[in-house]
Amino acid sequence: MVCRMRTLSEMERKIYSRNMLLPEIGESGQLKLLESRVLIIGLGGLGSPALFYLAAAGVGNIGAADCDVVDFSNLQRQILYGRKDVGRSKTDSAAETISRLNPDVRLEMYKAISEKNIAGTIASYDFIVEATDNFKSKFLVNDTCVRLGKPFSHAGILGAYGQTMTVVPGQGPCFRCVFQEEPKAGTYETTSKAGVLGSVAGVIGTIQSIEAIKYLLGIGGLLTGRLLSFDALTMTFMEVKLPWNRKCAVCGVL
Ligand SMILES: [Zn+2]
Repeated sequence: MVCRMRTLSEMERKIYSRNMLLPEIGESGQLKLLESRVLIIGLGGLGSPALFYLAAAGVGNIGAADCDVVDFSNLQRQILYGRKDVGRSKTDSAAETISRLNPDVRLEMYKAISEKNIAGTIASYDFIVEATDNFKSKFLVNDTCVRLGKPFSHAGILGAYGQTMTVVPGQGPCFRCVFQEEPKAGTYETTSKAGVLGSVAGVIGTIQSIEAIKYLLGIGGLLTGRLLSFDALTMTFMEVKLPWNRKCAVCGVL
């Protein structure tokens, strides 16, 4: 039996030349990206740049989930959408935008991720970008990913501040190790009340796309066991080492 290896087309060589010039990527890395599967949960301020950069980089199979429609108040940070998209579903609008950028990406859109379908949806992906805007979803994504052994990037943004960490189950702490329990609604600030600088979402969502690419290629050092925070007003990045909570309800061993 002859096993035919996938090779890059001339067009792909042109489009991804700047990726492949990095010694850490090369042609084999690009082929790996083209075969990879990433799921982005949430197509808001974080999911927008993450989807743009992953599609542009040539991640071949991208799933994206969001049940919302585009609102005027989204447009200052959710760069997948324009004014004509207001009132349309985010998944339909995002699919249109991405098909203009990279029609070769095989996109799969999901209207809703819930407790019922999350495990089945996540199962076929290599890496998850958690780009949601509420604690309930963040804990649901964490707990399911840890249970299924799926690596993911967490992020949160508020005002001029953002934070992100990467969870690789079995190799370091998870989101619940750090934040433990879902805070009660009304006890924490949200972007709809406190606002958010759009470009802060851009910085953090872009970092999430970098983490995904590094994980897929097995290069560099991930944000595992480290919470990276970004303060745009002081223009400071800070890193906090995260201990692995052995009593964690999800990943603990005690
Ligand atoms: Zn944990």
